[in-house]
Amino acid sequence: MLSVRDLSFAYTRGGEELFNGLSHAFTPGRVTAVTGPSGRGKSTLLYVLGLMLTPSRGAVVLDEEDVSRVSDTTRSRVRAAQIGFVFQDAALDPSRVILDSVIEPALYAGWSAGRARSRGRELLEQMGVAARADHKPGEISGGQAQRVAVCRALVTDPAVILADEPTGNLDRGNAEGVLAALTRATSHGRDGSEGDGRTVVIATHDPFVLEHADEVLAL
Ligand code: ADP
Ligand code: MG
Repeated sequence: MLSVRDLSFAYTRGGEELFNGLSHAFTPGRVTAVTGPSGRGKSTLLYVLGLMLTPSRGAVVLDEEDVSRVSDTTRSRVRAAQIGFVFQDAALDPSRVILDSVIEPALYAGWSAGRARSRGRELLEQMGVAARADHKPGEISGGQAQRVAVCRALVTDPAVILADEPTGNLDRGNAEGVLAALTRATSHGRDGSEGDGRTVVIATHDPFVLEHADEVLAL
């Protein structure tokens, strides 16, 4: 279970304060859309939830533990084991083939190459992009790249998926495909039966995503 308590963040000491003491519990098994005007802090909130930034005040609580102020080692371990991140515009490494980008978080989490590759191919298959596994990102469409980025975020089967404007530059058909993939991802575990389900948080201003999200958090 992921929540924030009395959360504020400023990029610089004395600078503009974001979130103004936000408290919110994200519901496992649900897609929550974080919305708000440009510059309000949607991306920053995902970075704070993803433990890439430390709050100025308040806490990020994961399974009853304040994970926002733990040691770097613990933070890295929690991130690798529990959090999948879909960066804005997919942000795939242009120099590597897609399968290698997808399995990188699993290798980082200590999986064997064989196990990671088989899990990576399985996910690419589910997202309909397996035929592109050995291609570079420059050879696939924007919609395919976003689905690949979702595979990468799911590869370690994390409890929390954070996605930054994942439908940002996509036409409606591709946006539907990416949102469907993220919605399916709320079923935690590959048989869909494990635990309470995964927590999916999408930063977005796309009306289509807002309409189909289970919950909306407006910043
Ligand atoms: P959104 O995703 O809602 O458009 P952001 O989280 O990107 O908003 O930005 C929130 C605010 O923080 C904006 O005022 C932005 O200019 C500022 N900001 C974003 N990144 C940085 C940074 N690395 N350093 C300083 N200020 C930043
Ligand atoms: Mg943003």
